[in-house]
Amino acid sequence: DELISQIAAGEVVERPASVVRELVDNALDAGAHHVTVRLLAGGVRLIAVEDDGQGIPRNELPVALKRHATSKIRSLDELESVGTMGFRGEALAAIASVAELSLLSRTPPGDSADAEHAWLLNARTGELSPAPRGVGTSVEVRELFYATPARRKFLKTDATELAHCVEAVRRHALARPDVGFAIWHEGKLVEQWRAAPPGASPEDSMAQRLGDVLGREFLDNSLPVAWRSSSDHPHPIRVWGRVGLPDFARARADQQFAYVNGRFVRDKVVSHAARAAFEDVLHGQRQPVYALFMEIDPRRVDVNVHPTKIEVRFRDSREVHQAVRHAVEDTLAASRA
Ligand code: ADP
Ligand code: MG
Repeated sequence: DELISQIAAGEVVERPASVVRELVDNALDAGAHHVTVRLLAGGVRLIAVEDDGQGIPRNELPVALKRHATSKIRSLDELESVGTMGFRGEALAAIASVAELSLLSRTPPGDSADAEHAWLLNARTGELSPAPRGVGTSVEVRELFYATPARRKFLKTDATELAHCVEAVRRHALARPDVGFAIWHEGKLVEQWRAAPPGASPEDSMAQRLGDVLGREFLDNSLPVAWRSSSDHPHPIRVWGRVGLPDFARARADQQFAYVNGRFVRDKVVSHAARAAFEDVLHGQRQPVYALFMEIDPRRVDVNVHPTKIEVRFRDSREVHQAVRHAVEDTLAASRA
């Protein structure tokens, strides 16, 4: 059983950044407005993610660590149209099997009888003890791969692992301008992206966040995308975001951010479609730069393809390809008109 959970963990936890991604997913699923990530030694010694979300009731803390225990979906039907980032219920279990994990959480007042303080659960000992904390959850993950030196050896330098961790948070941050993020490494603030003010329009919030995360120069050298399939289309798709102007294109794959229903994905259909739209202007020399958000009927996309959920499968990849291609082409054409 120990072996099986270690093998399963390998698919979810490859490096510190995988842990960061899963923990931030959970914070966002819990409705957090602010997420703080604290790291030591590129995340290998410590990954702590703190949120101000709804918390975990005391009696559910041990359940949260069980494999395939999720509070997010209850039926196969719900899996078809899952609206949360998580749904497989394996992240915390997987992380706990390859590192020292503790959960510290407090639910809002009135939500549960014992919300006057937080509860701390040590995953290894199972010990549950009262502890001070405001409403929300802190997950601490220490000494990743401590019991598997072979896997620890595959990790790169702290600086490289840190860069991957920051990238993982950046992917979340681009999709959620309404949430504030901060990343600390060795006690120093590495990145901070403030939440958009409550009344701000989605467009303004997104523009602000794109500028904060990808740099002012991206904002100044990109065009807004706002596209939707015609209303008589049986399966409407909406594509929005920004694409970098052709002469701004940099040969950097990490400047390509694609989201499907709010989830960051790495997908060949989408990247190929964007490239195809740029083909004439970029002459295949450089990679386009973009942050594209696709909204599509959740029943037409399968997010349960891979444990990390970074890959998706579309029911009809042609319609997605066409939507992205048209969205980018129309944007580029409008800028030349
Ligand atoms: P999943 O996200 O797929 O449900 P996880 O293993 O990531 O599975 O988390 C297990 C459960 O723990 C979640 O379903 C949720 O109930 C609870 N949980 C984890 N992290 C948090 C958090 N930051 N805030 C509130 N609940 C959480
Ligand atoms: Mg999760």
